[in-house]
Amino acid sequence: MRAAVYHAAGDIRIERIPRPRRADDEILVRVLRSGLCGTDVTEWRVGPVMIPLETRHPHSGHQGPMVPGHEFIGEVVEAPAGSPFAVGTRVASGAQVFCGECRRCAQGRYNICERLYTLGLNAPGGHAEYVAGPPRSFVPIPPDLPLDVAGLAQPLAVGLHAARRAQARAGDRVLVSGAGAIGSFVLVSLRHLVPDLRITVVDVDPAKLERSRRLGADETASPEQLADHDAFDLSIEASGAPGTLAACIHRTAVGGRVLAVGMPPGDVSLPVHELVLHEITLETTVALVTPEDIPVALEILGGTGLADELLDSVRPLSEIAATLDELAAGQISGKVLLDPGR
Ligand SMILES: [Zn+2]
Ligand SMILES: [Zn+2]
Repeated sequence: MRAAVYHAAGDIRIERIPRPRRADDEILVRVLRSGLCGTDVTEWRVGPVMIPLETRHPHSGHQGPMVPGHEFIGEVVEAPAGSPFAVGTRVASGAQVFCGECRRCAQGRYNICERLYTLGLNAPGGHAEYVAGPPRSFVPIPPDLPLDVAGLAQPLAVGLHAARRAQARAGDRVLVSGAGAIGSFVLVSLRHLVPDLRITVVDVDPAKLERSRRLGADETASPEQLADHDAFDLSIEASGAPGTLAACIHRTAVGGRVLAVGMPPGDVSLPVHELVLHEITLETTVALVTPEDIPVALEILGGTGLADELLDSVRPLSEIAATLDELAAGQISGKVLLDPGR
């Protein structure tokens, strides 16, 4: 099959490699769309970070050059007897492979399973014609949902998981810091989950703020415009820019909550006195819970014009390196999907 194979930072090659061999309990999926995201860009620029190039991954067992791509959808082409999916079913992947047996899986926290690995980050993923994984890592796609729309399910599910973790309550004044893809997914998820929120989005880019208003923000602001603001019940940091998590804490009301989604490039300092004296709760969120978040993400995608706003383009797999360069240079503000069939 044709695949994009990661060898080192700045070195991804289109190669012919054997199709992945599925384990007896796994399905084989022909990939139809595979999204690029900030994690791919990090591996391209400064990796390997999560790709187990040098040392064997303790849970996936993978080591060496690897097919990235953790935001993919496809069509089942092989399935074990008794599989929940018939051959031909279109499925969206949550990308995570969880054991289903450990203490945290028993709590439903599959995203922090003790034996977790992620297709496309720690094991071969979706920037290829085929990928294999267990059925529990996939969810069926509603038949009428176009591929280019369904292709956004995994990153939207990450925003949805964040919105769930934020535990917004009706009537809350909410700040979303960052109007990029993840901030937009968080915004749309909050709107879907909780009625009567008053949502403000803050970003340095006026064009992205305009998009936030179209996606349902009540109000948008530049960081300067919010300088003295300190009355949000809930602040969600989704930009990962340096200093923004501290700014979120400043802007949160006494007794409020702050959720960290974005990851700054290194460690940051936080105003701990303010956190403690204002009894502000600081929470975090990572990735998604496939069986809970992917179905709702697909439902949101079917009912909103989200893909029209956030999909930049669908490109042939062969353009992956050039596209990663463009993403790294900040020249693309929406999501790019790859089509491994082209
Ligand atoms: Zn991603
Ligand atoms: Zn587990």
